[in-house]
Amino acid sequence: MTDRLELIQGDITHVTADAIVNAANSSLGGGGGVDGAIHRAAGRELLAECLTLGRCPTGQARITKGYRLPAGHVIHAVGPVWQGGRNGEDALLASCYRNAFALMEKHGLRTVAFPSISTGVYGFPIERAAPIALREIREALERRPELERVTVVLFSEKDLKVYQQALGA
Ligand code: ADP
Repeated sequence: MTDRLELIQGDITHVTADAIVNAANSSLGGGGGVDGAIHRAAGRELLAECLTLGRCPTGQARITKGYRLPAGHVIHAVGPVWQGGRNGEDALLASCYRNAFALMEKHGLRTVAFPSISTGVYGFPIERAAPIALREIREALERRPELERVTVVLFSEKDLKVYQQALGA
């Protein structure tokens, strides 16, 4: 199972996969961080498609084409803003991963790359987010044999180490 899971350090906009996941905000109108990087790399057509989708509630996800990205699709998942940890943040974060995998199944996609959703501007502590992300990914790999590869792309070496440690724990 874990032979289909990889953790790498890098820029998710460079990843070739059936889909990459965007840590989007509810407006789906683009933003900073990984969202901005994905929109810049994909080109204006991505924003145009996103704007046809309306708002996306926290914990849910929407799918678009990848346009100029090497990835075929972008799954826009809206992670929770950290509010101290007692406002359902853990469940909402888990829901992003689950809904992303549900969209993969619906569209027949087999390879996907995730960023570390919510752990940038949204302030979710990465030490708490990593085990949640990895639990959902492992569960999806167990349940869905059609998934060929799930890559988590960490932007910094420090973030990569946190995920590696959580994977080993
Ligand atoms: P959020 O608003 O969900 O917290 P951010 O984009 O601010 O989203 O941060 C999510 C994570 O994505 C952070 O760990 C950030 O370092 C990382 N990140 C930023 N740019 C990229 C990129 N090009 N590729 C992969 N990860 C990125």
